[in-house]
Amino acid sequence: MSVETLIFEKGAPGRRAANMPAFDIPMESLDELLPADMRRKEEAPLPEVSEIEVVRHYTHLSQRNFGVDSGFYPLGSCTMKYNPKINEDMAGLPGFAHIHPLQPDETVQGAIQVVYELERYLAEISGMIRVTLQPSAGAHGELTGLMLIKAYHQSRDEGERNLVLIPDNAHGTNPASATLADYKVVEVKTNPETGGVDLEHLHKLLQQHGKSVAAIMLTNPNTLGLFDSNILEVARQIHEVGGQLYYDGANANAVMGITRPGDMGFDVVHFNLHKTCSTPHGGGGPGAGPIGVKGHLVPFLPGPLPMKNEDGSYSWEDAGPQSIGKVRANLGNFGVLVRAYTYIRYNGPDGLRHVSESAILNANYVKHSLSEDYEIAYPLICQHEFVATARKQKQEAGVTATDVAKRLLDFGMYAPTTYFPLIVPEALMIEPTETETRETLDSFIAVMKQIAEETRTEPEVVKTAPHTTVIGRLDQALAARKPNLRWMPGQEITHS
Ligand SMILES: *Cc1c(COP(=O)(O)O)cnc(C)c1O
Repeated sequence: MSVETLIFEKGAPGRRAANMPAFDIPMESLDELLPADMRRKEEAPLPEVSEIEVVRHYTHLSQRNFGVDSGFYPLGSCTMKYNPKINEDMAGLPGFAHIHPLQPDETVQGAIQVVYELERYLAEISGMIRVTLQPSAGAHGELTGLMLIKAYHQSRDEGERNLVLIPDNAHGTNPASATLADYKVVEVKTNPETGGVDLEHLHKLLQQHGKSVAAIMLTNPNTLGLFDSNILEVARQIHEVGGQLYYDGANANAVMGITRPGDMGFDVVHFNLHKTCSTPHGGGGPGAGPIGVKGHLVPFLPGPLPMKNEDGSYSWEDAGPQSIGKVRANLGNFGVLVRAYTYIRYNGPDGLRHVSESAILNANYVKHSLSEDYEIAYPLICQHEFVATARKQKQEAGVTATDVAKRLLDFGMYAPTTYFPLIVPEALMIEPTETETRETLDSFIAVMKQIAEETRTEPEVVKTAPHTTVIGRLDQALAARKPNLRWMPGQEITHS
């Protein structure tokens, strides 16, 4: 495939896209402001381009980007739902967009009101008492939550608890956060029939390690898209040995307005507002991972927390002596919080329930429609996502989950999450979300069926996909391990 022309290779000497204002620093004061040895001796090798070249170049690049605004994005676990544009309008209001984190409270009353009210909404949705909006993402919330749990155990002279139980289907951030919080991870098996926590295995672990267990981290529905109906029993057993229950809220899109982690027995919950509450994410950010806690953990929360005074004004309540300390600026990742606030306000309680119900309906519709062509990992009623597999395709023709995922790109659709959860070989984890139309779901189903058919009749087409994208198959391991992030003029860019 041809090598793209880079912006550095465009243009000609002397060509300009802008008229710079005249230099207005008196030459005689230059040495004082910027000593000669700190100044550039030669001109930087920047492209010299006209405005139209710049505009066309970046417009062209933007059209090659794939996002939820350009097509279907069934990336399981990530909840790539449509991001309504009203969220952007609200986050862009000058009173929100142009404030400084350290401005005096009386000049940012509206911003504090937003975080105050958002905290109340999230507490209500999750069944928790208080919520800190500081953490920047789910993983950051996990670390913060585990630090709270640790502080709680230490306050009760049980600081020797050093184990965190995590199911074998958990998201990778769970064991990573536990390790970062200086805990040892013990894996809990999945029951092959129900897809939920293997209660016998859990019981055995608790008998063996009960006094050392600090917490269990669970998501419900779990990463298989299945709701664990034994959750109350799991909670009872963990609490009985003095452990805490941490809820990974990445799958909250299936439970809003239907059930609450607080009612399932969880002590700490994180939200992934960028997933559940429709704020743009991908490529590493931005995000927000607020955590909610039950009453016994409130004294350990990061501070300050927003408060409403008797005269109706808003201010900050300082953290108490047992607080784990700040994990981010008071207003958190504020733009994301405004978007989530907007989303919750215009949906309202009934709307949020409808979101979850539609997400569940859509996932079951797609699952059912694909079940003849693809083996479903757990052929049960699913929640907002499900795990199909390419096991049949691999057996029949050596076509893998990667091949199916790559072939989807040829049809202008993003791929499902592949090879996750780890306990399912050739996993294709599909999350259609509630924001897609019946027509879009049907065209995805038709494409998936066509790929299954191609696997039977012309598997090479699938194995060598994608065929229509600008870049073919990348060496993903090399790209991750040795990323070349600093292209220099004259350097060749090569790809297959
Ligand atoms: C996305 C996700 C996380 C991590 O959240 P980030 O916001 O990406 O840090 C944790 N658990 C599950 C199940 C997830 O899908």
